[in-house]
Amino acid sequence: MIDTHTHLCDPIFSNDRALVLVRAREAGVTHVISVSETMDDVRINLKLADIHPDLYPAAGLYPANLDLQEAASIAALIEKEGDRLIGIGEVGLDYWIVKEDEEREIQREIFRIFIDLSRSMNLPLNVHSRSAGKHAIDMLLDRGARDVQLHAFDGKAASALPAVEAGYFFSIPPSIVRSVQKQKLVRQLPLSAILLETDSPVLGVDPDVRNEPANITLALDAIAEIKNEPREAIREAVTENSFKLYKGLKRNGYH
Ligand SMILES: [Zn+2]
Repeated sequence: MIDTHTHLCDPIFSNDRALVLVRAREAGVTHVISVSETMDDVRINLKLADIHPDLYPAAGLYPANLDLQEAASIAALIEKEGDRLIGIGEVGLDYWIVKEDEEREIQREIFRIFIDLSRSMNLPLNVHSRSAGKHAIDMLLDRGARDVQLHAFDGKAASALPAVEAGYFFSIPPSIVRSVQKQKLVRQLPLSAILLETDSPVLGVDPDVRNEPANITLALDAIAEIKNEPREAIREAVTENSFKLYKGLKRNGYH
């Protein structure tokens, strides 16, 4: 399995990151995409990727960070280090944290930079959207984004459908077990549009417990139950979806 959205650069993993990755392997997780919220995260993720072959770094700026300067620096780094990156993320729109329209316009300006970069560099987008699902999808479609993952999508299933038509993917975290909205979303999505993620250290089954990639099986189990299909069939399908979106993932023989 492929955990398509984690924050393994988070200092909460500093003391036992290697063990976390061993447990992930034991649970069947062969690849972990570690996204970045800041330039510091990008640097840490690039270093971690040198040490841990299962870890694939993505570079981005968390949408609540309204820093055009930092966005420009990260965009420049993506242009330079694109070969070492699996994708661009996490980037997107957060209208939950950012409520002022002027600030939202800055957010959109930064998102546009990364969407355009995704197209020119052929790097997939790992997109965060909170209380802005429809807005994010509209922007992605308007600007012709091709390779897109919508992570922890909190919008209505109906607003996800144009994204499915465009070939975008939706990643489902273990918190689906306590989210009626995500259960509804999975019911509506075709299996061909679904990926797995954990968003570690958050979005676990218990919001107060540190989440880690090994818990991805809980998301898998929930999807299998909702789709009423064998777990193995779901596992194979979502893994193939991940390879389809992230062409830079090595097929290392373990999946
Ligand atoms: Zn995240």
